[in-house]
Amino acid sequence: MVGSITLLCAVLSLQSSAVPASQGLAASTSHEPRGHLSWVDATFLAARIRAERGIEAEPVLGMARERPEPLAVVPIGAHVRAEVRTALAFWRMADAARRDGIELQVTSGFRSQPEQAALFDLYRRGRGPLASRPGRSNHQSGHALDLETRSPRVRKWLKRHAEDYGFYRTVPSERWHFEYWGRGG
Ligand SMILES: [Zn+2]
Repeated sequence: MVGSITLLCAVLSLQSSAVPASQGLAASTSHEPRGHLSWVDATFLAARIRAERGIEAEPVLGMARERPEPLAVVPIGAHVRAEVRTALAFWRMADAARRDGIELQVTSGFRSQPEQAALFDLYRRGRGPLASRPGRSNHQSGHALDLETRSPRVRKWLKRHAEDYGFYRTVPSERWHFEYWGRGG
C-alpha cells in the first residue's frame, strides 16, 4: 500500500507540473467532468479491489477533456486495463450477465495518450475504425469500455440491462462502445 501511495503521489506531482498554472486545480474545479472521481476515492476503490480480488491497481496519467488526470487502473482482460470505478461497475454487470448465461468481455478499456494517438493516426490514414483525437477520448478519461458485441444475445442483454449498471451507449455507430457514468447518468 505504501508503495502504491508513493506512486500515486508521483503521478499527482507529474500532473501538476504538466498543467499550466492558469489551468490548475482552482481554475478547473467548477468545470469538473461529470462523474469525476477524487483521488482519495480512487485510492479507496483500489484498496477494495486488492482486498476483494487480489488485483493490484496501477496509477496512470489519463486525459479528461484534453487535460492530464491521474487515474488508477486494473487489468480487466487480456491486455486490457480499466479505471477502478469503471472496472467495479463492469464486474457487477458481468456477474449479473453470467447469471443469465451471458459472458461479457472487454476488448478495449483505458488508453494512454500514445495508445490513443496511434489509433487516431490509423483512423486518419483510413486504416482503422473511428477514433477520437488524442486527449478527447473517454477511453483516456477512464469511462469508456469497448465490449465484445458480435453475439446478438450479448447485444440484447446489454440493451436491456447495461443502464441498470450505469453503462450507456454514447456513440450510435459503435454498438460495442459503452461509457460508465453511474446510474441515472
Ligand atoms: Zn470505444
